[in-house]
Amino acid sequence: RAKALGRARWERYDPDRGAEEATKHELATAIPLALSRGEFVLDYQPMVTLPDPVVSGFEALVRWRHPQLGLLGPDRFIPLAEQTGHIVALGRWVLEQACAQARRWYDDFRDVPVMVSVNVAATQLREASFVADVLGALHDAGLPADRLQLELTESAVAGDTSCALAALSELAAAGVSLAIDDFGTGYSNLAHLGRLPVHTLKIDRSFLSPVRPGGPTDPAHDKIVAATISLAHSLGLDVAAEGVETPAQVEALRVLHCDSAQGFLFGAPASADDATTLLAHRIATADSA
Ligand code: C2E
Ligand code: MG
Ligand code: MG
Ligand code: MG
Repeated sequence: RAKALGRARWERYDPDRGAEEATKHELATAIPLALSRGEFVLDYQPMVTLPDPVVSGFEALVRWRHPQLGLLGPDRFIPLAEQTGHIVALGRWVLEQACAQARRWYDDFRDVPVMVSVNVAATQLREASFVADVLGALHDAGLPADRLQLELTESAVAGDTSCALAALSELAAAGVSLAIDDFGTGYSNLAHLGRLPVHTLKIDRSFLSPVRPGGPTDPAHDKIVAATISLAHSLGLDVAAEGVETPAQVEALRVLHCDSAQGFLFGAPASADDATTLLAHRIATADSA
């Protein structure tokens, strides 16, 4: 840590930070054992179509039921898993679980295409076995490839594009959907993304405003969202909005012809059972409407 600070060699020892680093180190090294003990669990957050909000699938979001620390969100351990390389094994587990769950939905709701979306870290994408891992998870679950979406960050597909491009092209050719997650927070440009076999841009929730009704509007953000949607459409990409919390936001997104949405307004991440209940309910509601 002190080394990363470069010239700041005079940095004073901070006992609190030392403890924090120790916990991080312990967490990072505990990941393989936690995997074998079944301490990770996936929640599922609904994704809905627009203009009419019909459930079209779920994003799988990993949590860690830590025996001492309680339920940990991904922000606590995914970066550590990336640094240590444990993300590869954890990511494989997430893929297997998500594909198995999607297969259950495929069996239980035959007439309704339910997509499952899985987050992929940059390190995973660079792994030589990545394409085989994804196709293997689909095969083992008996899941058609068009039921799976992979979410990649801008930085994952930006840097070393040649090997990422080969992997993504292979997966897209197999029928897997590809989305760019948290779009707008990185430095990629749309022209570059338009050349990748990507299908969907997920606009980061920081661009949706105002979150509170009557709260401050950021006109620049509104223009960014409008311009992103129209440019994405002209490049043949779909747009999904993340973090939708208010009906006013949905209305604004409808006006802009945003293709789909996700957020607490439609449902927070929930257990697979609760997601299944929501699915049954939403479909029943759509049928009777
Ligand atoms: P993400 O992929 O952008 O996922 C969306 C995050 O926003 C989730 O947080 C979700 O709970 C939260 N969210 C959804 N709707 C709303 C809303 O309306 N308002 C607000 N304020 N937040 C909302 P979560 O579950 O804590 O995940 C955080 C990040 O961790 C994810 O961001 C993703 O980048 C990463 N992550 C989660 N699961 C995995 C995984 O299996 N593999 C990898 N590599 N990363 C993962
Ligand atoms: Mg995501
Ligand atoms: Mg996201
Ligand atoms: Mg986000």
